[in-house]
Amino acid sequence: MKKKADFLFSADENKFREALRDFLVRVDAQKIEQEINERGFYPRELYGKLGEGGFLAQVLPAGYGGSGSLTYEAILAEELGAACVPLAWIHSTSSYAYATIARYGTETQKKKYMSAMKSGAKIGAIAITEPEAGSDVMRMATRAELKDDEYVITGEKRNITNGSKADILLVWAITNPEVDPAVGMSVFIVEPEKGFEVLEDYKLLGGFPGTINSHLKFDRLSVPKENLLGGENKGAKILFDELAIERALYAAMLVGEARPVLELAVKYSMEREQFGTKLSRFEAVSFKVADMATKLEAAKLMVYHTTRLIDAGFNAEKESAMAKLLASEAFYEVATNTVQILGGRGVTDEYPAEWAFRMARLSMIPAGTNEIMRFIVQREVYKEYRHKRAGED
Ligand SMILES: Cc1cc2nc3c(=O)[nH]c(=O)nc-3n(C[C@H](O)[C@H](O)[C@H](O)COP(=O)(O)OP(=O)(O)OC[C@H]3O[C@@H](n4cnc5c(N)ncnc54)[C@H](O)[C@@H]3O)c2cc1C
Repeated sequence: MKKKADFLFSADENKFREALRDFLVRVDAQKIEQEINERGFYPRELYGKLGEGGFLAQVLPAGYGGSGSLTYEAILAEELGAACVPLAWIHSTSSYAYATIARYGTETQKKKYMSAMKSGAKIGAIAITEPEAGSDVMRMATRAELKDDEYVITGEKRNITNGSKADILLVWAITNPEVDPAVGMSVFIVEPEKGFEVLEDYKLLGGFPGTINSHLKFDRLSVPKENLLGGENKGAKILFDELAIERALYAAMLVGEARPVLELAVKYSMEREQFGTKLSRFEAVSFKVADMATKLEAAKLMVYHTTRLIDAGFNAEKESAMAKLLASEAFYEVATNTVQILGGRGVTDEYPAEWAFRMARLSMIPAGTNEIMRFIVQREVYKEYRHKRAGED
């Protein structure tokens, strides 16, 4: 019989989730997460095993060994988030990169990069943000100039997840500075080589072991013109498409990261006694749990609503911003309330609550800050209303 938690998903999607969970238990992903927190290594090898197990790159078309579905990719992001956060972060930008190559790559590009990304042999990164262009992404200064048969890229990108470890980076750059960046930007598939420099690997919020966040420099780095993705000056459309995919998958990962934290709050409050009774008997505690569970469930529904819209070919810019906003704020509420419910133990490293609190706080910045998510949602809501009023719907 179908379980209530599986109800939203097809039989094949549920089978995929089950197989993935079994795999993550078999490789002891949770124990590896603990070891990473103690010893701080990057779980590159485990990511390779995920590829060998056939779990990566679900979003690729059937001909390339995938299911062609972003929903599968979100299930993967959610389960990795729940089992091993650093592994989920390697998968994050790697998956945004292969999803974008799958959508915009030529057959030659797909043949060249897809199988290595699917097998986990190569990991990817997305390089958009610059020192002077964060939220205002269209102000990017990185330039790419065509010289003979190569584009020469010069500029800096910062806060790049997987940056210093990536084998394949999607780098956005201005190819025509004379026009609006909306029609003068392009994106390139870059394999780091001569002209690529790692200026810094940042330490995030007092330590986020096992993840990489880099400041990169491209100094006249040459890429063959065949590595232009989706055509010259077509980069802005690809950027907004990539960001919608990124926000949906990022939100899926956060929903997964929040799941064990909520479970910790529930378990602890059912075991700890004060004033002769379990904490869970105090409404001040159990109503917190009610809000945490409700918001997390809402975020999860929003994630899969968004991936199904994208799978069906709709523009989901508004929904993906809503999903990222809801998931990061739900995660934050889950984490801060878990710290509170655990009391003095919540702020020590005896329990993963304080670590989750730091991760949840961090989660409101990447993939566009939550202010920018609200900006997108209100813009789209007013736009829809204006269209409705004009009788266009
Ligand atoms: C852990 C982590 C991983 C990341 N990974 C990647 C990656 O892989 N690739 C990549 O390209 N980038 C990545 N980023 C960068 C991330 O996308 C940017 O940090 C983010 O878009 C914000 O840009 P910024 O840091 O320059 O802040 P700014 O744009 O300078 O914003 C600073 C503050 O001003 C607010 N603000 C700015 N404009 C407005 C506005 N119009 N209205 C209201 N408030 C506004 C912001 O919300 C924010 O609170 C990552 C960041 C982090 C922290």
